[in-house]
Formats: sequence, structure tokens, C-alpha cells
Amino acid sequence: MPIDGANDGASGVAVLMELGNLMAEIRPPCNVEFLLTDAEDWGVSGDRDRYLLGSQHFGRSGIRDRYHFGIVLDMIGDAEQEICREAFSDSFFVEINDMIWEVAAELGVVTFIDSVRHGVLDDHLNLAAAGVPAVVVVDFDYPYWHTEYDTPDKCSPQALENVGVVMTRIVYSPSLWPGKK
Ligand SMILES: [Zn+2]
Repeated sequence: MPIDGANDGASGVAVLMELGNLMAEIRPPCNVEFLLTDAEDWGVSGDRDRYLLGSQHFGRSGIRDRYHFGIVLDMIGDAEQEICREAFSDSFFVEINDMIWEVAAELGVVTFIDSVRHGVLDDHLNLAAAGVPAVVVVDFDYPYWHTEYDTPDKCSPQALENVGVVMTRIVYSPSLWPGKK
């Protein structure tokens, strides 16, 4: 049955939309592209190639060397927010994760927990495979995941703001970017 998917997958889109509003007012220090992928959850359990279809397709469009780095936002609206470092992101691009968690600590966003908890199959893997250093910011401990109970009442504006302020600081602080220090 189709479901709302409030946290999985509207929450990330909501933060990108608000970042877009902000960037329309205050131009960021470099071009920023928003990628909204479809068919991330299209697959059949156990058949990895049927998941992440949108980012697979984007990865085939020759994106190597086009970007400094990428950050995927997924499942970041949970009212009981606890965002740990994602395992694949931390093993492949720890410098990007370090930047994100350092900024969160500096801003006092305590829902960013500085430890690794899960490895998550997500769009960042296709971006990385296509040559773009990319991580995912994901709060994977969500009891309503992939159920009809994943509805807006399980999410909170504060959770979205927590991620939004961290991303805003990163976008407007090129001196923090990996490879730029
Ligand atoms: Zn999902």
C-alpha cells in the first residue's frame, strides 16, 4: 500500500526546500545543486539493484569531478531525533562526517550523536560509486519506518531545524569543507 512517508522521505525534502529559500535570499559561496531522487525504496527485499533507482540513474550522467562533495538528508524528521554517524559514510569519507559533527557540536545541536550506529543502503552510495565524495545524514532508529504510521505527527519542526542549521553553517563556511582546510 502507498504510504505518506512523512519522515522517510519527505523530511529531507522539507529541509532542502527551506535551504533553497534561504539561498535565494543570501547567495552561497559556490553553486549548490539540490538533487531530489525518486524510486529510492522501489526495490524488492534482498535485491539491492532495485533500490536507489533515481541516484543510480543520476550516477550514470557523468558526475565525477563535478562536485566538492555531497550530503544526503534522509529520515531526519523524527520527533525523537538521534542522528548517529552512518557507517559507510564514516568509513569512506570520515572527513565530511567530521565536519558535520563538529559543526553540530559547535552549534550545540545535541541530537547529533558522535558515534557510529548503522550502515544504511542509501543514495550516497551511488554518488560515491560515481566519483562524488558523499555521506548520508540519517536517523535510522524510527519505529514507524516503512509503515502507514510514518505520518507528520511523528515528526517535529525542531528536528528539521536541527539539521537545517547545521547544513546552513556548512554551506556558508567554505573554510570548513574537506580539502579546503
Ligand atoms: Zn525508506
